[in-house]
Amino acid sequence: MFTINHECGVCANTANFQLSTVGRFVGIAGEKSQRDEQFPGETPDGALIRGFGVSHCPHCGIPSLFHFRVTNENFRRIQENLNTSGLLFNQNNYLTEVESFPKKFEPSVHTSWPDEIKREFTEAQKLFRQGVSPTFILFACRQALDVSTRGLGATKGSLKARIDSLRERGIITSAVADWAHHVRVIANESVHESGGSIEDAEECLEFVKTFLTMTFTVPEEIARKRSLIPAN
Ligand SMILES: [Zn+2]
Repeated sequence: MFTINHECGVCANTANFQLSTVGRFVGIAGEKSQRDEQFPGETPDGALIRGFGVSHCPHCGIPSLFHFRVTNENFRRIQENLNTSGLLFNQNNYLTEVESFPKKFEPSVHTSWPDEIKREFTEAQKLFRQGVSPTFILFACRQALDVSTRGLGATKGSLKARIDSLRERGIITSAVADWAHHVRVIANESVHESGGSIEDAEECLEFVKTFLTMTFTVPEEIARKRSLIPAN
């Protein structure tokens, strides 16, 4: 068998994807004649060719298509080993992955967010993609909210006290503070009772994104636009 270590574009789990089919292709129009001219007879072993492979994610079962560059010799070895029980060692070294479909999961983050917040919120979104228990997603959202309040200068007391402090200082509106408390309570209950629904998790993700947009993205955008206005 031949496997590729890969992060699934659907569920975001990293696993060894066992290829069930491989083939070679000539790619964009015009390249065929070019290749035929280059290799009029048998393709040399060391020649780089384009290959593709089909596999299923071991976690979610959804098929993925890989497009790779590989030497002619390695392509032949992959083909020969496809239906054997033996493993080809160091498999990612046999080829260079060019693209895969579905494409790799790209988290929704903004450049204005501090790195720690980006990391926490990426983790929460990834857990949602992976389809884990809502408790873990809610906990990750709570973490992202927790780190965000500190990033906004509310460093003292519980998360509840820090949300109130941001409202008192006019950094967030009362409506946002109320929503933040709602999310905080759902996340706390979920962690303590190992409950929470996928709808709760979805709402928390949506909230954290809105919260970060209002507190980091919009102020940065306003500052940027104002800096473009010439001073009198
Ligand atoms: Zn998957």
